[in-house]
Amino acid sequence: MDPSREVKPDPRRALPAVDRLLSALRAAHPDLPGWAAREAVRRALASERERLAGAEASDRVADPQGELLEAAAARAFALCGRHPRRVVNATGTVLHTNLGRAPLAPGAAAAVAAAAACYSDLEMDLATGERGDRLAGVAEKLVLISGAEAAFAVNNNAAALLLALDTLARGREVIVSRGELVEIGGSFRVPEIIERAGVRLVDVGTTNRTHRGDYERAITPQTGVLLKVHRSNFELRGFVAEVTLAELAELGRERGLPVVEDLGSGTLVDLKGQGLPAEAYAPARLQLGAEVVCFSGDKLLGGPQAGILLGSARCIEALRANPLARALRLDKLSLAALDWTLEACLDGRAEREIPVLRQLLQPAAALEMRARQLAKRLAAVAGSTLQATVQPDRAVVGGGSLPGFELDSWVVALELKDPETVATRLRGAPVPVLARVRGGRLLFDVRTLLDDDESALEAALGAALRTALR
Ligand SMILES: *Cc1c(COP(=O)(O)O)cnc(C)c1O
Repeated sequence: MDPSREVKPDPRRALPAVDRLLSALRAAHPDLPGWAAREAVRRALASERERLAGAEASDRVADPQGELLEAAAARAFALCGRHPRRVVNATGTVLHTNLGRAPLAPGAAAAVAAAAACYSDLEMDLATGERGDRLAGVAEKLVLISGAEAAFAVNNNAAALLLALDTLARGREVIVSRGELVEIGGSFRVPEIIERAGVRLVDVGTTNRTHRGDYERAITPQTGVLLKVHRSNFELRGFVAEVTLAELAELGRERGLPVVEDLGSGTLVDLKGQGLPAEAYAPARLQLGAEVVCFSGDKLLGGPQAGILLGSARCIEALRANPLARALRLDKLSLAALDWTLEACLDGRAEREIPVLRQLLQPAAALEMRARQLAKRLAAVAGSTLQATVQPDRAVVGGGSLPGFELDSWVVALELKDPETVATRLRGAPVPVLARVRGGRLLFDVRTLLDDDESALEAALGAALRTALR
């Protein structure tokens, strides 16, 4: 017989039965939940079957007690892992959208836990026993802090913008500068959100220059709103011109048109005396003439995901009455966190207690001291073969906030042969650690560490280096 035509047995027939691999997995990891173990075994076998289908007939089946078991275990742990879970942010980016933006203050987190586990007066007026307003507390605090006539809050800032435009310009035109048609990350584009609001977008000017005359010429009887959008994540430099909020507001007053500003990242405490740009202070935007300003709850404000709207009583009342408001409403857990965060602002505790503000306002000298202490701990973990040095660096605000604005920071730098591999292992630690790799070095920025993140960092680095040296 021609040996080339000999039919070899299909290697897939050598795959272990589901039950056999499952009992091996459960014996190796008795704590794994049954559902995760079963599903992981099913997926590991399916993927092995697929590999073998495309493989040479001589390829062997993965060892059911070795690689196959390991693959199933990895799948099972991935399946039953919590998501989202805690990570250590050593990137130096204070507001990192991929890392959940602002961490809540412990007090805000406690308010969330209480609202979550108990009944509450969410929509009950306890004085009368009648139905109450879920936003009453938050709206009142927003008004007290900002001096706005009225305030409202929804699920996030994209929703706030949608609600404002749908309410004030539905079926009509919204004029915006071409230089402000931004993409805000995760491929969400402000112009696409605007068009979903049932309004027609009229973009004016050019990418780099927009003048008052451009807006003026675009105004028609169909115009409903003049919109200003904060550029958030990029800067225009060079031959540029833009119409300021104050100028746009003047035009709006002359033509009887409301000016809406999407500020993106806003604060309710004025930080310009402490070196942060004045533009982020939301109440000042109203004083400059915006009729409505909206911004995120979990950017510079340092609270939960939310979209905050400040503005004239007339506009805010109209937003509140829009049926869309119900679809975009803020949930009770975010509401509890927002209420706590606003109270901290009213009490003058914001800079001390809101993590984002604390991180942004930390003096470089304190950061240097923290970096030196961290370097000592990491050097002890890394052993004598590795050098941990301390050096100044720059941290950014991030999260679509204050583009081009950097803060002095301090990092611990580790010189490593293969920093990328160690960075990957750090992300795989029980408490994952996110660090920066630059020029063959792994950098841990202390500005973004929360209280006692050092212990988790130390544990993750120890494990990462042990496996790296294995
Ligand atoms: C971040 C941002 C948004 C979106 O805010 P979310 O709270 O994430 O919905 C919208 N507009 C601008 C200008 C932003 O910077």
